Amino acid sequence: MKFIGAHVSAAGGVSNAPLNAMKIGAKAFALFTKNQRQWKAKPIPEEEVQKFKENLSKAEIKTEHVLPHDSYLINLGHPVKEKREKSLNAFIDEVKRCEILGLKYLNFHPGSHLRQISEIECIRLIADSINRTLEITNNITLVLENTAGQGSNIGYRFEHLAEIIDLVEDKTRIGVCLDTCHLFAAGYDLRTKEVFEETMEKFNSIIGFQYLKGMHLNDAKSKFASRVDRHHSIGKGNLGFEPFKFIMQDERFNNIPLILETIDPALWPEEIRILYSFV
Ligand SMILES: [Zn+2]
Ligand SMILES: [Zn+2]
Repeated sequence: MKFIGAHVSAAGGVSNAPLNAMKIGAKAFALFTKNQRQWKAKPIPEEEVQKFKENLSKAEIKTEHVLPHDSYLINLGHPVKEKREKSLNAFIDEVKRCEILGLKYLNFHPGSHLRQISEIECIRLIADSINRTLEITNNITLVLENTAGQGSNIGYRFEHLAEIIDLVEDKTRIGVCLDTCHLFAAGYDLRTKEVFEETMEKFNSIIGFQYLKGMHLNDAKSKFASRVDRHHSIGKGNLGFEPFKFIMQDERFNNIPLILETIDPALWPEEIRILYSFV
């Protein structure tokens, strides 16, 4: 089965997110459990946690189909130790928020070397941050997202993610989320059945489908291999509808959250309906 949704708003409290998902016909969703542009957040009140769980069952969405996203400020591979520690502390706090909400995953971008250290040094720092997080938290699987490779972001090659996973001690709590716009912008083509299969075979041989815990379904304003991260509505960008048909008709993408991060929330109900029509 396919579980499609979108990155919905949690304005007014996290308990609103499942209701917002329900309203657009989603069977999965992503959310920020705090303001993604601020370092600090108040703990989630117990009452709000209960409401979140109630609304999740009201929306008939399972915890394994919720893919929370961490703050954009966090850089687990920051070359400067004090800045990296600040990120790590904020990241651990985010994991704990997910634990409190009874969720299973936290989706994050690996990190950036800021042109101050090499890619491999940055990868080692990211893996170290992940290991330290896993040591002092429970239950949450950390889900690395592939990136478009904009600026000095790590994660635009499957090899980057594989190297990070290789250095993670507890491999039962590490996973990957593939973003279709980021794949395309990073030079992994998806536009014909043939190149789509090639890309997925590369993913399987370098990382492995056993690590795939979610997908971000985005069309791309970015050009192929441009390493520019610009999302577009499904069918309106340089990817078109075809790659999304391949995904919907492929069992390897069953039972994981498939999340829209497309640019026009008003189109989400229609995008979800179209995607389900491809199944
Ligand atoms: Zn994404
Ligand atoms: Zn993006």
